[in-house]
Amino acid sequence: MKQVSIPTLKRLPSYYNIISAAIVNYGKKYISSSKIAKELNIDDTQVRKDIAATGYVGKPKVGFDTFELKLHLEQFLGFNKLKEAYLIGAGNLGVALAKYEGFKKFGLDITAIFDNNPAKIGTKVQNKQIYCISRFQDMVSKNNVKFVIITIPASAVSNIIEIVESSQIKAIWNFSPVNLKVNKDIIVLNQDLATSFVTLVHLLNTN
Ligand code: NAD
Repeated sequence: MKQVSIPTLKRLPSYYNIISAAIVNYGKKYISSSKIAKELNIDDTQVRKDIAATGYVGKPKVGFDTFELKLHLEQFLGFNKLKEAYLIGAGNLGVALAKYEGFKKFGLDITAIFDNNPAKIGTKVQNKQIYCISRFQDMVSKNNVKFVIITIPASAVSNIIEIVESSQIKAIWNFSPVNLKVNKDIIVLNQDLATSFVTLVHLLNTN
């Protein structure tokens, strides 16, 4: 698969959403880079460059074939294949993420939750069972799960990272407010929603 830069990778799902909406809402067969760019308030050269970087090129004067490009992006971004993920921390944030059905559209399927609170263990969030954290490594290896989402307090992170590192997990989506340092074979994405808010404030102040 072609390598693309992280900024390009971050923009591609927005293109995908616009193309999907053009098909579902308007039955459009073609969409131009300028139409996509206008929706996102970015430059249309950027859109063409990003899409070309994935190995897809539009037709001159006509634009992109919406069905073809949607399929192409689904394959490129892996949306067409559900990836099983476990979540650690069945609190406010963890439960909200576990309940969100919209992740499936992007290939993410949270199938089990882990916690250390006896009052939560054995209960369910929608159809997802909450297990004792002591079962994490066994279940990861039995089900060959590669992704984990972490939504625990910062104080619990070092313990949990030891558990995750000694499992077969390959990628961590971390929401806890710590900059994770892990074994180099595991990919980490630290997610801080506040950074989006900072962008929003900046945009408001510079408008
Ligand atoms: P919460 O207290 O409601 O939930 C934390 C859960 O983790 C609880 O169910 C608790 O039992 C569990 N837990 C604690 N220690 C554990 C351990 N050792 N093993 C397994 N489970 C354990 O907290 P919350 O409001 O859901 O927030 C969770 C984390 O997410 C916090 O660190 C918070 O700062 C962070 N957060 C991040 C963002 C972001 O944008 N990245 C946004 C909101 C919250």
